[in-house]
Amino acid sequence: MIDLHLHSTCSDGSETPTRVVELAAAAGCTAIALTDHDGLSGVEQAAIRSEELGLGFVPGCEISCAFSPGTMHILCYFVEPGEGPLQSELERLRRDRSNRNERLARRLEQLGLPITFEEVAAAAGGSVIGRPHFAAVLVANGAATSIQDAFDRLLGKGTPGYISKSRIDAGTAIAAARGSGAVAVLAHPLTLGLGTSELDRAVEELAGAGLGGLECFYGRYSPEERAGLAELAGRHALVATGGSDFHGTFKPDLSVGTGTGDLDVPDTAVTELLARKPGAER
Ligand code: AMP
Ligand code: ZN
Ligand code: FE
Ligand code: FE
Repeated sequence: MIDLHLHSTCSDGSETPTRVVELAAAAGCTAIALTDHDGLSGVEQAAIRSEELGLGFVPGCEISCAFSPGTMHILCYFVEPGEGPLQSELERLRRDRSNRNERLARRLEQLGLPITFEEVAAAAGGSVIGRPHFAAVLVANGAATSIQDAFDRLLGKGTPGYISKSRIDAGTAIAAARGSGAVAVLAHPLTLGLGTSELDRAVEELAGAGLGGLECFYGRYSPEERAGLAELAGRHALVATGGSDFHGTFKPDLSVGTGTGDLDVPDTAVTELLARKPGAER
């Protein structure tokens, strides 16, 4: 069993990279990838602990791309250390997030809500600041009854507090990943929100842009959905990969390795991905 989709405190997970690796070892994983959103800051720690515990480790991240009607996330695997085009794109995304966060704090204050940027930063406790931290402060200060209420009235799309972040397009993300020695994989393909034939066309286009795999074995997908996606991957000569999308206590139904209980991603996905690494292809 392997798990190629894991989040830590370096993005929006509740467990440190070290702890994520320990949970994977305890669950019986032979290899894992750390795939924090828009960053690689946990990769070094996770690699060290994986080595200590004898676990195969794949350095990765997950990038949110521009897409409608649904959501498109691209996973990057086997990112080379040091500088590169992917690292530069991630840096740009971090700067953009940081600007958005400061503007959002000011906007909420202007709306007369009891919130300061300092409180939000404290709520994030050193990890990447996101809207869930704004929501937590609004709840703590009595301006919202729950996280969901905060999103519904104050932070979600179409509410007065909504400030959009610029998104990278999929082609740019895939090219940047490849430029940094990484293999790009379409995460949880069903969140694109497309019907069968449109999904097929979208995957074909991404494959043409250099996509290497499709996340077929996803924590929350049913056996039928997983099988359908594996067939889709096969049709476009993409590696069928998978993972739990573990976020610790923030998504309590998802466990490392086993997802909602029945996940078992085939170990062969790692070697198949490695064979797609730019430079490894012949
Ligand atoms: P950010 O990347 O800072 O814009 O925050 C995105 C995160 O906010 C997502 O990963 C979700 O956890 C959460 N989120 C976004 N929209 C909603 C919503 N409508 N309801 C609840 N949570 C949401
Ligand atoms: Zn996440
Ligand atoms: Fe995702
Ligand atoms: Fe994820």
